[in-house]
Amino acid sequence: MHVVIVDPSRVVQQKLAAELEAAGCHVDCFSASDLALRHVQQTRSVDVVLTSLELAPIPGLELCWNLRTIVGEKRPLHIIVMSSNSSERALAEALDCGADDFTVKPVRQEELTARLRAANRIITMQRQLIVLAQTDELTGAMNRRAFLSLMEEKRRDLDPGDSLTVCLLDIDRFKTINDTYGHDVGDTVISKVAELAGEEAPIVARLGGEEYALAFPVLDSTEAAHWCEVIRKAVAAHAFESDNVTFHVTCSIGISAWHPDEPLGAALKRADVALMDAKQNGRDQIRVEERAEHLPA
Ligand code: GH3
Ligand code: MG
Ligand code: MG
Repeated sequence: MHVVIVDPSRVVQQKLAAELEAAGCHVDCFSASDLALRHVQQTRSVDVVLTSLELAPIPGLELCWNLRTIVGEKRPLHIIVMSSNSSERALAEALDCGADDFTVKPVRQEELTARLRAANRIITMQRQLIVLAQTDELTGAMNRRAFLSLMEEKRRDLDPGDSLTVCLLDIDRFKTINDTYGHDVGDTVISKVAELAGEEAPIVARLGGEEYALAFPVLDSTEAAHWCEVIRKAVAAHAFESDNVTFHVTCSIGISAWHPDEPLGAALKRADVALMDAKQNGRDQIRVEERAEHLPA
């Protein structure tokens, strides 16, 4: 486990660090709470923060609160507060400020390692829950919720001038596949198409049924269209098998650039219009729908 110790005393830091390292932990120590906060923010591998309350420049309770805010909901972080004040009020205050656990100073080694084992159980479970909440069970691709959240993250991380293109892919006449070969074979097709899409698109999500969202950060719609065409061809070329019968499937893809000044929904709506267009024009094709003011004059 990766543990960050925050305590004004170097002697306390060294004692705790030695004990935790002996228990197999990787440990970083800080006296200044602002540096500790920045370190945790930048270091995603940190699992546990073991902190005193008597800190500067950010007081201990405020540090707990700030840590909780920076990690958000998608990153498990277990905060253990160490305090020489064992009153019920101090305990309640620490928990209310975002701490998960509370221990009285001086911290005894046996108690500390036991608390870390408990923290490890909780963090492991939290990680599993986060993965489950973000993953489509059938394909292993991310689900709709994870896609929407990742896209907002990408938008924040990219420069306003960077392109970001979104696409909707839908398997053609999929109902016939289910009707002809059975639901289980249909499931295999859904998984394989996700896999083929993932070989070219950096972001692939299953939105539901036989429909996927793809995203190409930094690529404009023309560049993304090139990769979508590669995916379309790969899907059409793949030979599926059921009871020694070989069959093929095709897909249609709608593409649109997501402009930074509009909600993601607007770009997805255009991609959907493009997808409908591809379906109406005979399927097994890609279509781009640009925002009106970006169309050539
Ligand atoms: P189109 O070319 O217009 O997209 O036609 P389609 O038949 O692909 O579209 P439609 O929406 O009519 O049918 C989608 C089918 O996908 C209907 C549904 O039974 C099936 N489906 C939805 N989810 C799953 C799934 O998880 N597994 C399997 N095997 N089939 C599914
Ligand atoms: Mg379909
Ligand atoms: Mg569909």
